[in-house]
Amino acid sequence: MATTTAYILLGSNLGNRIAFIHAAINEIEKQCGQLIAASSIYETEAWGVEQQPPYLNQVIAITTSLLPEQLMQTLLDIELQLGRKRTKRFAERTIDLDILLINNLIIYTSLLTVPHPAMQQRKFVLLPLQEIAPQIIHPLTQLSITEMLQACTDTLRVEKIENHT
Ligand code: AMP
Repeated sequence: MATTTAYILLGSNLGNRIAFIHAAINEIEKQCGQLIAASSIYETEAWGVEQQPPYLNQVIAITTSLLPEQLMQTLLDIELQLGRKRTKRFAERTIDLDILLINNLIIYTSLLTVPHPAMQQRKFVLLPLQEIAPQIIHPLTQLSITEMLQACTDTLRVEKIENHT
């Protein structure tokens, strides 16, 4: 079966954040496909609501033979498996998994929007993505990730964590 490349953003701001990120990557490798790249881990101020613990964020690239909706459903299952409880929008979360890009596909279904609609507004997405995929072209803006990062006006603090093992 043909494989695709998917870029996934991981985020955690509750409990042992590093452990949740590691556990999620483990499950993604088991259930979705092969890990081909991983950014550094970044610490990010919570977006959307104030007074929440900061997030750790990381972007990974995988190759997968899952179809886009199967990939989304598997990531939602992994979120549940790792203890995420869906409460209010922007609530704290043990693990959040977002699909940023899948090849150069454009998808709008009830389960899945790709490219992720908020990615160009968020430095915590573009900074780690640029680390592993600076040259790829966003299929809607037709800009590279580096160009999108240069154009991004997000001022929330995003800091690389140096020692995270
Ligand atoms: P969130 O609260 O940000 O984790 O939102 C998850 C919901 O957004 C799920 O119901 C997904 O089906 C939907 N969704 C749509 N597009 C995406 C995407 N590209 N990545 C992650 N979730 C998505």
